Amino acid sequence: MGKSLKVACIQKAERITAVGDGSFGDTKVSTEDYMKWLKDYCEAFYYGLSVKILEPIPVSHTGCGFRVNEYTCNLQIHAGDLLKYLKKKKPKEDAFCIVGITMIDLYPRESWNFVFGQASLTEGMGIFSFARYDSDFYSASYKGRLQNIKKLPSADYSIFDGYYTPAINSMLLLRSCKTLTHEIGHIFGLHHCQWLQCVMQGSNHLEESDRRPLDLCPICLRKLQSAVGFHIVERYQALLGWMDEDSSGIDAELGNEAKMGLLKPVEAFKECREWVLKCLDVLQK
Ligand SMILES: [Zn+2]
Ligand SMILES: [Zn+2]
Repeated sequence: MGKSLKVACIQKAERITAVGDGSFGDTKVSTEDYMKWLKDYCEAFYYGLSVKILEPIPVSHTGCGFRVNEYTCNLQIHAGDLLKYLKKKKPKEDAFCIVGITMIDLYPRESWNFVFGQASLTEGMGIFSFARYDSDFYSASYKGRLQNIKKLPSADYSIFDGYYTPAINSMLLLRSCKTLTHEIGHIFGLHHCQWLQCVMQGSNHLEESDRRPLDLCPICLRKLQSAVGFHIVERYQALLGWMDEDSSGIDAELGNEAKMGLLKPVEAFKECREWVLKCLDVLQK
């Protein structure tokens, strides 16, 4: 054991010292809060493994290619370049896999419109973007559209400074948790589930992935259990604990309004929570 998952975050901005640079969109939620929620969620889902969050990486440090999408007019970064960069970052000894997440859209090659993510299962690496989980992404009013930009200078990453990224809300957190655990599931050797309602079901578009439940079906759960070796009740309790824990760790000095902005937005997890409660109920009879 001692194996851990590493999660890296690819960030838009060059520096994260200025206020606002480190946050996603115009909410009070910082990258740090959001990454912590994802880390804790993955630790409950893959119960028994530890997840480490690596330092945020500015886009410019990766040296990746980027472009403006000619149809959607948003900034995109090259997924394969990011994987190459992550490969160098993956600790040799203790990491089971390294996963990069970004709020900037990805493309796999010039001729492709976009990609949600790309992974190398043999190397235990993946890179995933949550840009298209913004409920505004496909609307005309999407704030990530760049007007009047035809050709970008190839090595000038300053265009990423202050570039729009979605605000963290409950739906985005739910979608991020599903995607991350689904993709890491593949790295664990789980294939697309054809049996029951399951987070490992394949999906071709957003509506389909929204229809997937948050958790594994009993068949995939058993497979994961044989890989990770957790106690099933303890795992459900950890998932429930994640959904129920709210303001813990928040500075007690903060006023109520400031606290509200920092609470983990779990409204969208209501149905999943009921499912976990039912499972626990059956298991503990
Ligand atoms: Zn998949
Ligand atoms: Zn399944």
